[in-house]
Formats: sequence, C-alpha cells, structure tokens
Amino acid sequence: MYISDRFESGNIELVEAVSDHHVRLRIRKDSNSDFFQWFYFRATGVCDTLCHFEILNAGESSYTKGWEGYRACASYDRETWFRVPTSYTNGILSIDHTPEVDTVWYAYFAPYSYDRHLDLISRSISTGLRYGNSARLVGGVKHEVLGTTVDLAPMDLLVFGEPGERKRTVWFIGRQHPGETQASWWMEGMIGRLLDPGDAVSRSILEDAVVYVVPLMNPDGARRGNLRTNAAGANLNREWLSPSPERSPEVMCVRAKMMQTGVDVCMDVHGDEALPYVFIAGAEGIPSLSERQVHDRGIFDEALMKANSDFQTKYGYPQTPPGKANLTICTSWVAETFGALSMTLEMPFKDNAN
Ligand code: ZN
Repeated sequence: MYISDRFESGNIELVEAVSDHHVRLRIRKDSNSDFFQWFYFRATGVCDTLCHFEILNAGESSYTKGWEGYRACASYDRETWFRVPTSYTNGILSIDHTPEVDTVWYAYFAPYSYDRHLDLISRSISTGLRYGNSARLVGGVKHEVLGTTVDLAPMDLLVFGEPGERKRTVWFIGRQHPGETQASWWMEGMIGRLLDPGDAVSRSILEDAVVYVVPLMNPDGARRGNLRTNAAGANLNREWLSPSPERSPEVMCVRAKMMQTGVDVCMDVHGDEALPYVFIAGAEGIPSLSERQVHDRGIFDEALMKANSDFQTKYGYPQTPPGKANLTICTSWVAETFGALSMTLEMPFKDNAN
C-alpha cells in the first residue's frame, strides 16, 4: 500500500505499515499551532482488499467528541464522497474499508479545493454575461481583493447588488476554520441561488440589500491542511477584536471593509465536530444586546426552520450569559460594533441526526 498526502489540503503522516493492508497513521498539527483534526490522504494498492487505517493520535486531537459516532469520508473520483465504516476506541480512530479500485481518497469531510473556489468566483462575475443583459442580476456582481493572507494569497470579496438609500447591508463569511469545508459547500449553494435570475427570493433580497460575501476567509490554512488556524497559527475566529498584520491580516482587511460598508446582518459559516445537528450560535452575550437584535434573531430562526428542515433550535451551544460574550469572535464583535443581527451557522461533520 502506498500512502500520500502530498497535495493541496493533504494531511497525514505514516507511522508504520503493519502489513500490506494495515497502516498506522498520525494527523499533523496545524501550522504553528497545537490544533489538529483534519485529515486527507490517498491510499494506492488497495483494490478488493479489506484495508485497516489506524489514526493513532485521534485521542489527542482538538475535538475528541467529534470521533464518537463519526464515519470517515471516502472517494474514488474526488467528486463523489461516501461514508466508510469507522470506529473510535482507546483514542484510536480506525477506518476499515474494502475499496473497489486501486486508489482511494479519505478525508475528515468532503474537501473543497482552491481551484473550485476560483471557479466559484469566476462563475459569479461572469453570470451576467451568460444569461445576457435582460436576465442580469439586480445590481450585478463585483469582485474585489481586500488584502492578502500571511502566505500572500488574495482575500476575495464578492459584492452582489448596488448600494443605495434604504438598502440593507448583508455579510456572509465562511471557512475561518479551514478544516470546516462544509462552509465552502454552503457558500457554493448560497451563491448559486443569488446568481439564479429565476430565483424569486434572491431577486427580492437583491432589490432590498447589498450582499457582501467572503467565501474563503482562510485560504492558507485550507491549502496547508489545517483544521483551525492560518499560516501564522492564528485561530481567525479569535482575532476580531484586535487583528494584526503579522498574525491575522485576513481578519484585518475584512473588518476594515465592514467598517466602510456597515453591517445590518452577518452570518459566519462553520462546521461543528461534535454535534450532529445544524444550529446557530448567536450574540446574546454582548454587552450592548438590544431588543431588536433578540427580536430579529427569533424571526430569522422561525423563517429558517420553515425553509429548511435540517435547521433546528433544540440542540446547540449553551447560551452565553448576559455581558459575557467573547468579543474576539466574529459574530459577537459584529453584533457589538454594528448592532447587527449577527450569527454563526454550524453544520455537522457527522451525518445530521435530525
Ligand atoms: Zn468553526
């Protein structure tokens, strides 16, 4: 068997080969950090053989509750991903799988490549051309580079619609935590709807609001195969109160643009390792919490539950006590700074138990 992680977002180390179809592995730590959980590797020479992959350091990873009831993702073509039998005992995560072809890819969750992100950006700005002027989106789509990451990758912003009087300002950001690839899949779905000239909901949103989207907040961490940090080892979702050019230029440039545009609604899209549910973590603990913010959140939850049966409000994080919010987190900082309806959307790594 041949194991490799020498590709974008790859993460695994070979500890030893016990036999031709039994290997012991370890997940590498995030860049300049102790976090780890994301894995992504390729195994070759595995066709029609029951293979055992043991991840020895799963028990020391960032979210060990994430392994309980978890099944790894696998693919033959890196396009379609399926779950494979996985167990977690004595701190070791074991994947036992009989592949149907010579090479199989295993990952913590369906990966989302940087090329696919670039395709999403290009598709967004060329949609008007494709549909022709008559079906052009309300206000059009613009693409801006807000700054650069620690590794000098561009920070891409898409702007849907034209600013105007009485228009609301809506922000979506995703993938602050690079291992949470479900955020990128979510962005692709959401942007796809915004781009669809036949989508009545999107049209009505774009008539009333300008939508700012940063689909990929942490390109460096994504490329490096990190779970949680950027190239400098910063957890970007703890940098919003005082970002720095050395540690968190990604947050700094997005925050500066938000200061310029203002924010009425913000959603920060994430994945949760442990809870097998879709839920929202809010900003109820901010010092300046207003009745309007509480009211708007209630309306939003009701509407989202009606629109999507995956979303629920029974399971989630415990409520933060009044005034105790951590303002280094995007959702809390945005809610406190702009008085906005600000939310963190969490989606599971496990299959949805709801
Ligand atoms: Zn996250």
